[in-house]
Amino acid sequence: MSEFDWQDFGPETQAIRAGQRRTHEDEHSMPIFATSSYVFQSAEQAALRFTGQQAGNIYSRFTNPTVAAFQARLALLEQGERCLAFASGMAAIMAVGMALLKAGDHVVCSRSVFGNTVLAFQNYFGKFGVETDFVALTDPAAWEAAIKPNTRLLFLETPSNPLIEIADIRVLADIAHRHGALLVVDNVFCTPILQKPLLLGADLVVHSATKYIDGQGRCVGGAVVGSEALIEKQVYPYLRTGGATMSPFNAWVFLSGLETLAVRMQAHCDRAFELAQWLESQPAVAKVHYPGLSSHAQHELAKRQQTHFGAVVSFELRGGKDEAWRLIDSTRMLSITANLGDVKTTITHPATTTHGRLSPEARAEAGIKDSLVRISVGLENLDDIKTDLLAGLSAANVENAGRATIADSA
Ligand SMILES: *Cc1c(COP(=O)(O)O)cnc(C)c1O
Repeated sequence: MSEFDWQDFGPETQAIRAGQRRTHEDEHSMPIFATSSYVFQSAEQAALRFTGQQAGNIYSRFTNPTVAAFQARLALLEQGERCLAFASGMAAIMAVGMALLKAGDHVVCSRSVFGNTVLAFQNYFGKFGVETDFVALTDPAAWEAAIKPNTRLLFLETPSNPLIEIADIRVLADIAHRHGALLVVDNVFCTPILQKPLLLGADLVVHSATKYIDGQGRCVGGAVVGSEALIEKQVYPYLRTGGATMSPFNAWVFLSGLETLAVRMQAHCDRAFELAQWLESQPAVAKVHYPGLSSHAQHELAKRQQTHFGAVVSFELRGGKDEAWRLIDSTRMLSITANLGDVKTTITHPATTTHGRLSPEARAEAGIKDSLVRISVGLENLDDIKTDLLAGLSAANVENAGRATIADSA
């Protein structure tokens, strides 16, 4: 069964069965290979392995069977030729830059990417002579106008955080390729179950496995997926030298996370869609940002590009920061944390947390209001999520609603 070709199977089947190579112990579930190194049959075999003339394990910084199984499975799900796992999503993004950029190169990046991604380009690649311009995610003309003769990479996240805006991947891939650049898509919010950027023309996909791929908030990990030429020839040598390797234990957790990813995403998205519609009907809510709603500016694009609308919903309250904080503080069950993609529903105030380091002007330009609240919809009973929010929505307009969590009162 080891070399079975899962290419023609559905994504649910690939997520459960692809990538595992059964050992002589005939185990059913994927084992954790907790070993740093491997033993060679002879000095000659060791030499052949090290020069790459013979395939096989050498050292777990860059070869480990549990990690390899995760890589093979995610590569297939994203429809890429190769995948490399990393210690975190940020390690994967750093690896893309370290492997593909050099001093004098230029990058065009969406303004609405994960905060540390902005810092990676601005502070770290910038330090070594790579210049980055940031543009509006949903304005292809702005992307094209920002391109220079030395532009090597376009980088985006779709849907964006926290306003859940959608970029047209195919259009931006065409723009990149017309100018001899590569398009990198951060696919954390959608996962390959909702969207496969490589099939839309992207050259590389990056992941934080920490979010939906784990799905239960246990481990930190990341991955890069793409062609043999980019991954094997460029990113792999960097992983081997850079060393931000995924641990076999984490790979084992993510492998089982992938096995339930399709059903979890369906359930996450169903709840989020219903919750978004419900929020839109609440008098205390001024605006809901969710691509499943016909009020969303890129609703039609989201329908074309994604199989479901995702499970992150944000909304603006009538009022400002005080109302938003009061709503958050008066929920009892929802977790106040900026993490997402968990079975537990999380609630956060972007203006004072994830986007708190931006100046008020930059926040205003990005459209992140003080009244904005973001929810990553989990898998609890939807009525319980609504009840918890309803307490918050009615408290949003009253003074001094203290937070008493269910855990506290237990
Ligand atoms: C969390 C996240 C990252 C970074 O991943 P880590 O695993 O936390 O390093 C990158 N992009 C997006 C969209 C994320 O949500």
